[in-house]
Parts: sequence; structure tokens; C-alpha cells
Amino acid sequence: MDCIKICHLYHDILNLYGDTGNVVTMKKRLEWRGFEVSVTDLSFGEFDRNDKFDIIFIGGGQDFEQGILTEDLFKYKAGWLTEQIENDTTVLAICGGYQMLGNYYITDKGEDIKFLGALDLYTKASSPRMIGNIVYSTELNGKMNVAAFENHSGKTYLGKGISPLGRVVKGFGNNGEDGTEGARYKNVFATYGHGPLLPKNPVLCDSILLSALKKHGVLELSELDDRIETGALKNALTLYG
Ligand code: GLN
Repeated sequence: MDCIKICHLYHDILNLYGDTGNVVTMKKRLEWRGFEVSVTDLSFGEFDRNDKFDIIFIGGGQDFEQGILTEDLFKYKAGWLTEQIENDTTVLAICGGYQMLGNYYITDKGEDIKFLGALDLYTKASSPRMIGNIVYSTELNGKMNVAAFENHSGKTYLGKGISPLGRVVKGFGNNGEDGTEGARYKNVFATYGHGPLLPKNPVLCDSILLSALKKHGVLELSELDDRIETGALKNALTLYG
């Protein structure tokens, strides 16, 4: 079985509320099933474009960090990341990392930060910030509720051809207005869900892993003993309401 390669993009600058835990969770849930997994941290500067990845993860960040990474994004990564997305590489993007895939982000200081433009969506800062626990329903391998934490000023609006990842059950989601949460495009899974998201949402994690594994001819994953994970999710869903 090939080694499953995960790229942790901007690992050192986009990592709020334990977002790195999503990389740990994906790696462990693959290794527990006998897969060999490599994780490549990729931040500022040049890199080996021949390095092929199965999954790219991008975490969240403050407006300041999002602003300072754009120079590197457009100097080194934009063409490559857009190509990965168009070639169906699986991408999980959280909050600031999610916003970065869209067209632009207007910050609370009125700065218009040009972003990747790979997903037809845009973000505008708002006040007060949207902070709190969030529950959203999504349809990935069946209907499920996802529990997470959100903290963002940005309100994201989806354009044509972009579906939401889910519908808000409790909390704000994309903008606190249209009931959508996150975005789906090709094999991109984008969400405002911090936490980290995946440890207590094992079915969501496995759905994301399968979107990458199908290219290796793997269409299903063996069952794991998810009593702890499922118990944590159940508690969170009860607590969050
Ligand atoms: N800085 C962005 C905002 O405030 C993203 C925040 C985050 O990644 N949690 O909306």
C-alpha cells in the first residue's frame, strides 16, 4: 500500500485552537488501519513542486497572520495550490485557512486582502465576532451532526458552484445569516470548525480520508473502536444544544 502523504500548509502560522490536532487525527486514524503516513510541514519559501500530496491541511489564523502570508502565497504557492484543488487533491481548511481559498477578505480595518480565488467565495469582517460552540448537519456518507468551536470576525458568502459543507443547527456558521456552514468544492472540505475539529468527529474525519484514499483504490475503511470519540461527540452535541 502506498504511503499516504499529508501536507500541513503554513503549519507554523495558521494553527489556532489546536488545529494541528486535525493532522494528528488523520495520521493516527490511517495508521490504526495499517497505512503508512508521512506529514510534510510546508511554510514560507520555495518547496519541491514534484512532492505529490494526498491531503493538504490549512489551519486558522488571526487577520495579521493572514495578511503576512499572502506575499508567500502568491510568490510560491498560489499556482500550485490551485492546481492541487483542480486536480481533486483532498484539502481540509479551517477558518482563516478556509477564507484564504476564496477571492478576498475585507478585514475590520478595511484592508482588502486578495486571496487565492480557487473557491468562488468572499469574506468580510464584522463585529461582534462570531464566537462559541457550533453544531452543523452535513451529508457525507449519510447525515451527521458535527460539533466544533468557532471564533471569527469574517462573514463568508458562497458564490456559484460552491456548496456549503453543512447547515447550521446551533451557532453562526459562515455568516450568521444564511444558515450555511463551510464550503465544499471538488475535494475541498472547508469549515469554521475549530476544536480541533476531527478528534471528536470521527465519521467526518473518515469521510475526508476516503476522499483521498479512493485515488489509491481504497473505497472503505475498517471499523475502529470509536467509543471514546463518539462519546465525546455525544457529550458535545448535548452540551452545545
Ligand atoms: N482572522 C479570521 C477572522 O477573524 C480567521 C479567524 C480564525 O481562523 N479563527 O475571521
